[in-house]
Amino acid sequence: MNKYEILRNYFGYTEFRGGQEAIIDCLCGGRDALCIMPTGGGKSLCYQIPALLLPGVALVISPLISLMQDQVRALTQAGIRAAYINSSLTPHQYRRVLDMAADGAYKIIYIAPERLAVLDFIDVCASLDISLIAVDEAHCVSQWGQDFRPSYLRIAEFVHLLPRRPVVGAFTATATKEVRSDIARLLQLQDPLEMTAGFDRPNLYFAVKEPRKKETELLSLLEERRGQSGIVYCATRKAVEEITELLCEKGFSAARYHAGLSDEERRKNQDDFVFDRVSVMVATNAFGMGIDKSNVSFVIHYHMPKNLESYYQEAGRAGRDGSPADCILLYAPADVRLNQFLIERGEPNEALDPETQRQVREKELDRLKHMTFYCTTLECLRTFILAYFGERPAEYCGNCCRCEAGFTEADVTVDAQKILSCVARSGQRYGTRLIIDTLRGSVSERIKNLRLDGLSTYGIMKESDDVHIRRVMDKLIYLDALVQTEDQFPILRLGDAAMPILRGMQAVHMMVPPPRPPRIRSRHADRRRAEAEADSGLLGALKTLRRRMASEMGVPAYVIFTDATLADMAAKCPRTKSEMLDVSGVGETKLKKYGDAFLKVIDEYEGE
Ligand code: ADP
Ligand code: ZN
Repeated sequence: MNKYEILRNYFGYTEFRGGQEAIIDCLCGGRDALCIMPTGGGKSLCYQIPALLLPGVALVISPLISLMQDQVRALTQAGIRAAYINSSLTPHQYRRVLDMAADGAYKIIYIAPERLAVLDFIDVCASLDISLIAVDEAHCVSQWGQDFRPSYLRIAEFVHLLPRRPVVGAFTATATKEVRSDIARLLQLQDPLEMTAGFDRPNLYFAVKEPRKKETELLSLLEERRGQSGIVYCATRKAVEEITELLCEKGFSAARYHAGLSDEERRKNQDDFVFDRVSVMVATNAFGMGIDKSNVSFVIHYHMPKNLESYYQEAGRAGRDGSPADCILLYAPADVRLNQFLIERGEPNEALDPETQRQVREKELDRLKHMTFYCTTLECLRTFILAYFGERPAEYCGNCCRCEAGFTEADVTVDAQKILSCVARSGQRYGTRLIIDTLRGSVSERIKNLRLDGLSTYGIMKESDDVHIRRVMDKLIYLDALVQTEDQFPILRLGDAAMPILRGMQAVHMMVPPPRPPRIRSRHADRRRAEAEADSGLLGALKTLRRRMASEMGVPAYVIFTDATLADMAAKCPRTKSEMLDVSGVGETKLKKYGDAFLKVIDEYEGE
């Protein structure tokens, strides 16, 4: 079989996604690769297909036990011989897997990095014909990453111990330059092909909202999405508890997840969510690693996360099967302080010396700044994300709240000068609130007491509203013309870029809302209507069959076919096995297993 036949027959897909083919060719050709793709971008195929094409066996090093089990289950379903080795196996099971591996029973073996130091494992590996080592979550090797794992540092040494050096592929979703170069260096990749791809997820709709009351906004967002599966991420355990309680009180089907719960409750809640017994998972960032639930149709962030990497990874858990899905972030300026607090008080990584710890912290604060810019920018959100991850994007995507609002570019140089000169004249010692009040000519006691009403800039922006002034300020912060201190009560100072603007040598442009906001039709109402119609028809019948089979087999429904596959099946309405193979997500193996049952349902439906 060649790579296209494998893609079709085992995985049921007709085309490769951006970047996949190049990585596959590279690894099969014996060259190392460093592949940077977002979560959900399709990294697994990039090593699974070479694993099938190359002789012998491939080892996949992965830090996440739940991910291994999921992947092995999916591979076995697709008819590929795979196994995993991690701490969840009993000594007896472990021996058995090793024996079978030695007999050449597997094409792919997932292993936890800790195993690489275990002697009998190294012995067995020396006798295997290992052709490929894939390192998943490769950023764990770098201390600059969030998830530094010392056991990853052993990988290079392990590769060295093998009788023949296999080709090595490293996979990560991390964007930063330091981490990328650490991966290549510490894994001792040899002249690797470095490739960034697949960050654009066109089916995801992005929105940032700054509601007056987050709770009210959340409830109304969930009301529009009743019955759909989704995740609500919160920054703290306490918030998870409160929000779960609130949702249950309001009659939503919700479960909670955070690191403070017992293993048992966590497992139960996760299963309930994966098996569609509850619709909404309220969770801290502890939830979701390795969960490949394909029908998550929204991810709402109740707080702004620490950085765009985390945000994109968490938001990216929506719409994994390619169906339209929503990623909504509820932002409040207080989230910035909350995150600074979490970063400053966060457990330092014990494996690092104090100076490195300080540098790591500084980098984290810098990444937080970019996260904040994402929340306050008025430009296309997708463009912003793609630029951050180093992909060259189109200018407007048409599928985010900023594009939807139809903002236009305006010259706000004069407003910018007014704001900067107000900050300068009041001595660079006040915060946003007082500067805005001064500019707008407020008659409050505080303004009088501080004698801000005597300044020449007092009242020079009477005509503008708070929101506009705040937006220009955000833009100035982004441009480094204003600097906001990181104290409990942050104050505004002039930044390096202030002078050229004040002197009129540098113009300031930004996106502003149209004079009257266009009526935004409710995408949700539309989509739900379409879904309701479809669900009562053939798609509904197919879903019913899938639900029945899933519960008989005791697997999550998406393991049989994803929502996207069923939707395509309902649209194409295949009547024969070969027509069935044209459905995206149906390969030879699944056709054999499930084809007849689904064709029968289609037959009955069409017969009516
Ligand atoms: P990652 O490991 O990068 O987070 P996965 O490898 O789990 O992502 O892939 C995410 C989803 O995309 C999976 O459901 C996978 O089956 C699907 N997928 C991967 N490659 C393709 C493709 N070429 N065509 C269609 N779907 C794909
Ligand atoms: Zn956009």
